[in-house]
Amino acid sequence: MTDTYGILGWPVEHSRSPVMQNAAFRATGVPGQYVRFAVPPERLADAVRGLTALGVAGANVTLPHKEAVLALLDDVTPEARALGAVNTLVRDGDRWCGHNTDAPGLARSLIEGGATLDGAEVLILGAGGAARAAVVGMAQHGARRVRIAARRGEQARTLVAQLQPVAGACVLEPCDANALQGPLSDTSLLVQATSATLEGAPDAQAFADNLPLHALPQSACVTDLVYSPLRTTVLQAAEERGLRTIDGTGMLVHQGALAFELWTGQPAPVTAMRDALWGSLQ
Ligand code: NDP
Repeated sequence: MTDTYGILGWPVEHSRSPVMQNAAFRATGVPGQYVRFAVPPERLADAVRGLTALGVAGANVTLPHKEAVLALLDDVTPEARALGAVNTLVRDGDRWCGHNTDAPGLARSLIEGGATLDGAEVLILGAGGAARAAVVGMAQHGARRVRIAARRGEQARTLVAQLQPVAGACVLEPCDANALQGPLSDTSLLVQATSATLEGAPDAQAFADNLPLHALPQSACVTDLVYSPLRTTVLQAAEERGLRTIDGTGMLVHQGALAFELWTGQPAPVTAMRDALWGSLQ
């Protein structure tokens, strides 16, 4: 029998998860199909209850439900609880457990791209959901220090206060977004986690131009979590400086791969998932 999996979001038409997960089912021969569930916020509780009744075998959760879904589940992993966000639902009989594969997915993608996380000096731009996942992912993979620079300083300070308790030995610090030259000079990994570089963002070029990337050591690595466009203004500027760059598709692929592994207990066919994603982005 073919099991049904899906993604709950609102809107959800843009989601790349179906193309990746259906490629994974095809490549492994696991009998599954993955669909979109367009769920408005006021129907989320109904939708989660409905998953059990409909026999859905596993699910992803995307915006705007990643936080609200926590209260609707039977169990939530400590990592997802620490992040305050769930992106993967794993079924055990009639019980649902919430996981978060964004943070480990980013870590896997950076390691695959050649970044060193152990002992890293990380600087994260932004203080939204993606930045939260980046903080936790980097802290849990041995970063020595993670600094957070947000255009609204209080957002960075709040993130530090909320996440330091789960960051272990990693030191979290807020950082002035208007004075990045000093901090960048001893950064080994720069993570662009704002939406400023998204396709069509009016200030995408100005955002990159204002970053003093020349201050980064030549050995530093730069990643942009935004994957549309693939080569963001920040990645272009970093490439021009000869720095190692890693685009945002790796995080997307690996968060999906980790979800596939949680649902099926099988290693995910990462190459097939990446090829399918890239094909859909051309
Ligand atoms: P949020 O809306 O939660 O946060 C966006 C952050 O960007 C906020 O801190 C916001 O600041 C900041 N920001 C927006 N515009 C600017 C600007 N011009 N200058 C400085 N800061 C700015 O979004 P997410 O954190 O969920 O996502 C951020 C990006 O990461 C998205 O574009 C998304 O596509 C990408 N992403 C990629 C993933 C992947 O798998 N590769 C996974 C998740 C996200 P303020 O609060 O002041 O507005």
